[in-house]
Amino acid sequence: MNKILIANRGEIALRIMKTLRKMGIKTVAVYSTADRNAPHVRYADEAVCIGEAPSNESYLLGNKIIDVAKDLKVEGIHPGYGFLSENAGFAEAVEKSGIKFIGPLPEAIRIMGSKLAAKDAVKNYNIPMVPGIDEAVTDPERAARIAEEIGFPILIKASAGGGGKGMRVVEKPENLKEQMDRAISEATSAFGDGSVFIEKYIASPRHIEIQVLADSHGNVVHLFERECSIQRRHQKVIEEAPSVVLDQETRSRMGEAAVMVAKACNYVGAGTVEFLLDEARNFYFLEMNTRLQVEHPVTELITGIDLVEQQVKVARGEELGFTQEDLQIKGHALELRVYAEDPLNDFLPSVGTLERYRLPVGEGIRVDNGFDEGMDIPIYYDPMMAKLITFGETREAALQLMLKAISDYEVQGVQTTLAFGKFVFEHNAFRSGNFDTHFVKTHFSPEKIKATKEEEARRAALIALRQYLADQKQLRLPQ
Ligand code: ADP
Ligand code: ADP
Ligand code: MG
Repeated sequence: MNKILIANRGEIALRIMKTLRKMGIKTVAVYSTADRNAPHVRYADEAVCIGEAPSNESYLLGNKIIDVAKDLKVEGIHPGYGFLSENAGFAEAVEKSGIKFIGPLPEAIRIMGSKLAAKDAVKNYNIPMVPGIDEAVTDPERAARIAEEIGFPILIKASAGGGGKGMRVVEKPENLKEQMDRAISEATSAFGDGSVFIEKYIASPRHIEIQVLADSHGNVVHLFERECSIQRRHQKVIEEAPSVVLDQETRSRMGEAAVMVAKACNYVGAGTVEFLLDEARNFYFLEMNTRLQVEHPVTELITGIDLVEQQVKVARGEELGFTQEDLQIKGHALELRVYAEDPLNDFLPSVGTLERYRLPVGEGIRVDNGFDEGMDIPIYYDPMMAKLITFGETREAALQLMLKAISDYEVQGVQTTLAFGKFVFEHNAFRSGNFDTHFVKTHFSPEKIKATKEEEARRAALIALRQYLADQKQLRLPQ
């Protein structure tokens, strides 16, 4: 493969291109009018505007992207995450046009894109599942009977859901009907598929997922776990590898289960099998994401393996260059998703112009970033700007480096999750490893980071003052 098109934007487009360049492969960017000046467009060897800002007029236009690829004699398309990455129809159309889709076969995407089909596919493989039903329900009376059997609270889930969307917790029987009606109508409008099902709501779970990698010759390995329990709105904000709660035995059992899930759908490429771990250390299969995951860098840092490079090699038909026994965890990695969101205001998106934007640098610090100073954060897309990742020999070393990196990360013009990150990384529950997916609800309130925000504002004011004085000095210089 000599030329690859990246059907994505932001940090992930840039991150993929960096590996491709390292491999000597030419890159093609596609972009919307809102991203004209984006770093991923400038970095690429070639770039083509494919439409207007809304993603359904640009980044979701599969056929248009394939036309661009054909025109430019592209040999592979990398979909990144989000957008078309889990669209089986797109994967199929890419392959039909004679271009390699860098990801699994369409059938695996189709099965795993539906949480119900996924459960069905793995049910013969002895994979533990969250108690619940494995088919869609629409009849409230039937749902009530099932819920009664499972026991409240229960979770109504959209089969086609993703990104933390399409879930409703029901605490009491009397709320079931109303919540179900809402869930079905939301799922229909958000995912074009109103199928919902019921799962037991695990009271105090940790979200632990396993990275898998499979080649087209039947070799499947896992690259250990990522702990992703720090979430808001059922979506991850902080991730780490390894997890502090897994002993070797549970790690191996989860790894083996993940490899089975991959085998169950003839998986090829990089994928992630998500599990919930309950207080008694039982794990349950949640879903499989058939793409590169947002938080893949923490795995790269502890294994020394470039997952994008592996995706390309697998797509070229190569065999994996290592076995399970060759893989080892070395060190500890942490990741903070830097979202343009206001943690003081319920994590709502905070769009605007990046008046000042300076990234931390240093050994053990990696920033996968998609923005530059002076750019606007568009309202059309996911508000994640960058991922701040640190690596150390121990968890404590990675934590100390993370706190330093957060304080060196300068952003003015929008609110971000940086101060929230600082709060978490300093919190005793996080430091001791004693936390679950309810960390935000249990420990966080906006007041708790007000002090940090005020300190940030004071620093920003000082920087502005220094700049002002410097400007004044320059203005007063004799001509
Ligand atoms: P990850 O699953 O990689 O840990 P997220 O859950 O945050 O991370 O999802 C990654 C990206 O994919 C986000 O941009 C999210 O909005 C998007 N996404 C995931 N699943 C879906 C879906 N079913 N429909 C629409 N967007 C999705
Ligand atoms: P998505 O496709 O949106 O990523 P997931 O099934 O992966 O959906 O769930 C996302 C998050 O929602 C999990 O990480 C967890 O925090 C929460 N969650 C999902 N299922 C359950 C459950 N049965 N009990 C408790 N929490 C759950
Ligand atoms: Mg998930």
